[in-house]
Amino acid sequence: MTAPIKLAILGSTGSIGQNTLDVVAGNEAFVVYALSAHQNLELLLQQCLQFRPEVVVVSAADKAPQMRELLKEHDCATEVLAGPEALCTIAEAESVDVVMAAIVGAAGLASSMAAVEAGKRILLANKEALVMSGELFTESAARNGAEIVPIDSEHNAVFQCLPRSTTDAAGSNLNAVSKIVLTASGGPFLHTPVSQLLGVTPEQACRHPKWSMGRKISVDSATMMNKGLEFIEACYLFAVGPEQVEVLIHPQSIVHSMVHYCDGSVLAQLGNPDMRIPIAYGLSFPARMPSGAAQLDLASSEALEFLEPDLDRFPCLQLGMQAAEQGGTAPTLLNAANEVAVEAFLDNQLGFTRIPSIIAAVLSKIPCEPAASLAIIQDSDSRARNLAKELIIKEFH
Ligand code: NAD
Ligand code: MG
Repeated sequence: MTAPIKLAILGSTGSIGQNTLDVVAGNEAFVVYALSAHQNLELLLQQCLQFRPEVVVVSAADKAPQMRELLKEHDCATEVLAGPEALCTIAEAESVDVVMAAIVGAAGLASSMAAVEAGKRILLANKEALVMSGELFTESAARNGAEIVPIDSEHNAVFQCLPRSTTDAAGSNLNAVSKIVLTASGGPFLHTPVSQLLGVTPEQACRHPKWSMGRKISVDSATMMNKGLEFIEACYLFAVGPEQVEVLIHPQSIVHSMVHYCDGSVLAQLGNPDMRIPIAYGLSFPARMPSGAAQLDLASSEALEFLEPDLDRFPCLQLGMQAAEQGGTAPTLLNAANEVAVEAFLDNQLGFTRIPSIIAAVLSKIPCEPAASLAIIQDSDSRARNLAKELIIKEFH
C-alpha cells in the first residue's frame, strides 16, 4: 500500500475548506496534517476532533490561546500556531504533500506563494493570489516544480480539457488551442432591471441561484467581478493572451467551461454544480476518485442556454477584462479595490452599483507598473486599498 497523501488545508472553515474535508472524510488515501481558520474556533474545533490534524493555525493571533484551551478541554493533542506567518509554515512544511489554498482574498497570497516555492502540489481556490501575483506565481511554480491544479470550477474544467503537457504525445495540441471559453452563471441579477440594482441588499446579492459559497465570492458573482478575476486567472494559468479567452453566460452551470481547437472541435467538462467535483479531481489527478457529488442526469436537467454577457449590466466584468489587457499591477489594483468595495457593500456602507465606480476610480488614479516583485505588488495592493477606503468614506459622508 502506498503512503497516504498528507494535506494542509488553508481556510478549512470556509466553503471550499469544508467541501475538501467532506471529500477526504473516511478516505484512507489522505491524512489531514494541518488546518487553518481565521476566527471560527467552534468549527475548527469540530474539524480537529474529527480529523485529528497534527497542527492548526489560527490566523487571528489573539484567538489562538482560546483555541488551545478548547483543544485541551477536549483532550485533543493538535498543536496550535498563531498568526498569518504560521500559514506559510504549514504551507511549506516538509511533511505536507498537497496544499489546498482556500483562504479568501489577498490574505491568502503569502501562504499560496509559500506552497509554490516549496514545490508542493497546490490546489488553487484562492484566485485572488494568482490575480495579484500572476507571472511571479506561475514562474515560481515552474522553477520549484510545484504543480498548480486549479480548483475554480471553470479553470478546473479547462485543465481537464487541455492536452496534459507539452512533453507527452498530445502536447503538440497546445498550439492547436484556438480559444478558451469560461462559462458564467450570470449570478442572481442576470435578469433584474438595471434600475433596481442600486437598492439590492447584501442578502439578495449573496443568494446565488446555483452555488453555495462564501460571502465575498457570492458578491463577486453578483457583480460578475468573479468572472473578471477568472478571466485574468485563465490568462496566467494557461499562458494565453486575453484575446484567446471568452466569457459566455450559461445560467444552468452544467457546462463548466470549454476549449476550442483549431479544427473546430470543442471539448467541454460537464457536471452538476458541486465544488466537490473539481476538489476531488485536484486531489486525485491524474487519476479520479469519487467526490460524493450526484451524477449528472442530462435527460432530466433544464435546457442548457448560452448567451453573450451584457457588459453594460456588468461593468465589473469589463474592468476585469481591461486589467488583463493592461497587465502589470493593474490586476492587483483591481483586486484590492474590489475587496475593499465588496466589504463596504457587505457592511451596508456602499451601494451595489457603486462597487464598479470605486474600482474604476482607483484604476484611473493609481498608475499601473510592471509587477516585477512581490514588494511592488504589495505596495500597489495597499495603495489601492487606502484610496478605495478614502473614496468610500467621502461618498458615504
Ligand atoms: P469563505 O469565506 O467561505 O472561507 C474563507 C476561509 O478563509 C475561511 O476558512 C476563513 O477562516 C479564511 N480567512 C478569511 N479571512 C482570512 C484572513 N484574513 N487570514 C487568514 N484566513 C482567512 O470563502 P470560500 O467561498 O470558501 O472561498 C475561498 C476561496 O476559494 C476564494 O478565493 C474564492 O474565490 C475561491 N472559490 C470559492 C468557490 C466556492 O464555491 N466557495 C468556488 C471557486 C473559487
Ligand atoms: Mg469559478
